[in-house]
Amino acid sequence: MSSTACQTTWLITGASRGIGFELTRQLLESPSNLVIAACRTPEKATALSALKSSAKGTLHIVKLQVDDFASIRALPTAIAPILGEGGLDYLINNAGILKEDTPLTLDPEVLLETLRTNTVGPALVTQVAVPFLEKGGAKKVLNISSTLGSIASAETFGKGTVTSYSISKAALNMLTYKLKQERPDLIAITLCPGWVKTDMGTQAAQLEPAESIAGILKVITCATAADSGKYLSHSGAEIPW
Ligand code: NDP
Repeated sequence: MSSTACQTTWLITGASRGIGFELTRQLLESPSNLVIAACRTPEKATALSALKSSAKGTLHIVKLQVDDFASIRALPTAIAPILGEGGLDYLINNAGILKEDTPLTLDPEVLLETLRTNTVGPALVTQVAVPFLEKGGAKKVLNISSTLGSIASAETFGKGTVTSYSISKAALNMLTYKLKQERPDLIAITLCPGWVKTDMGTQAAQLEPAESIAGILKVITCATAADSGKYLSHSGAEIPW
């Protein structure tokens, strides 16, 4: 069913758990949202499927593995019938991986896998989503980055560690800025959700997912053309590059 005429449309990667799941959950609290929740194994995403029964908004679940380029190139075929003529308002590149390593211990294959998932995947997802964003109203791309990708913050956060991850997020930040330069008609934001209690963030993290995600949604819905290319926190503060 295509029902985008009076709904705001969202595509979220990595929606099976963690931040992507909570983004989906909060958006579905409003009937005005249609969420395309992308995950690599929909049949295992039971919590996500369960949202359908309580959702006030509209939920569609599609299969997407962001380190598999064929999977990304198949995405338009899956989302076109959902979006119809209405297009896509918001793309959130959220799926990501983190493995602990240092410059002198990193496994080159892990660095490549991390770049493929955290940087190259979002680049290609954005490419295939642009024709849909062009038809949408908001025209916003939100890349979920991390303060660990900030060189200016590297003495304070993750000193010497999580090297592949930090490289991938620094590259994602640059990708976001390049997109802003190439496409002034889009609003491209790179954003750190804070340290959030998820499988990746661990239970030692500072923020409950609900708090982080409420902030993220406020930041991205309020973002204007003047904010495009910014590196922001979940509270809207600018993060030094
Ligand atoms: P989780 O590990 O809890 O969840 C990661 C999500 O990404 C899962 O839905 C997972 O799917 C999905 N994913 C991973 N690899 C792929 C892939 N190849 N294809 C498709 N989906 C994939 O992480 P968070 O929710 O905490 O993190 C979400 C984003 O937020 C990431 O980009 C992360 O870097 C960023 N972030 C998180 C912070 C935190 O404190 N939590 C801090 C800063 C940034 P599956 O269930 O199939 O494995």
